[in-house]
Amino acid sequence: MLAFLTDADLPAARIAHQGIELAEHAADKDEIGAILAECAFAPEQGGFTAAHSSTLNPCIGDGWIAAGDASMTFDPLSSQGLLHALFTGLAAAEAADSYLSGDLAAPARYQQIMDGIQHAYRRHLAFSYSSEMRWPAAPFWQRRQSIAR
Ligand SMILES: Cc1cc2nc3c(=O)[nH]c(=O)nc-3n(C[C@H](O)[C@H](O)[C@H](O)COP(=O)(O)OP(=O)(O)OC[C@H]3O[C@@H](n4cnc5c(N)ncnc54)[C@H](O)[C@@H]3O)c2cc1C
Repeated sequence: MLAFLTDADLPAARIAHQGIELAEHAADKDEIGAILAECAFAPEQGGFTAAHSSTLNPCIGDGWIAAGDASMTFDPLSSQGLLHALFTGLAAAEAADSYLSGDLAAPARYQQIMDGIQHAYRRHLAFSYSSEMRWPAAPFWQRRQSIAR
C-alpha cells in the first residue's frame, strides 16, 4: 500500500486524488521509487479521505457514550486510532456498567480519561512534528511546527 499525506488546500493534494498519478509521482523519488520498483508495485485503484485530528467534547452525555473514532480521531502519524478504539470501547462499556449499577460518578471519570488521552496526544503530536528538521520551508511542515513551538 502506498499512502501520501498532505493538506487538502496544498497543490500537492491534486496528486493524491488519483492512485495511478500518485504511484507515478512516487516512482520518480529516489528512495521510495527504488522500494516500489523492487516490489513491482502496480496500483489498481486509489482513493482519498480526510485524516485530521478531531475531538468530541463532551464524550459522554445523558443516555449516550462516544468511543473510538466517534470520540476522537488522530493524525495518521500517531497510529493511535485502533488502540484508542479498543481501549475506549472497553472503558465506555465499564462506565455504562458502573453507572447502571448506581455509580453516578462513572460518566465524569470517563470524561476525565478522555481529557487525559487528548492532552497526551496533543503533546506527543507537537513533539513528533517539531522533531522533523528536513523541510523547514514546506508549508505542510511549517503549519505543524508553528503549532508545536
Ligand atoms: C486509510 C486509513 C488508515 C489507517 N491506518 C491506521 C493505522 O495504521 N493504525 C491505527 O491505529 N489506526 C489507523 N486508522 C484509523 C483506524 O482505522 C480507526 O481509528 C479505527 O478503525 C476506529 O475504530 P472504530 O471502531 O471507532 O470505528 P470504525 O472502524 O469506523 O467502525 C465503526 C463501524 O460502525 C459502522 N456504523 C456506522 N454508522 C452506523 C450505524 N448508524 N449503525 C450501525 N453501524 C454503523 C460502520 O460501518 C463501521 O463498521 C486508519 C484509518 C484509515 C481510514
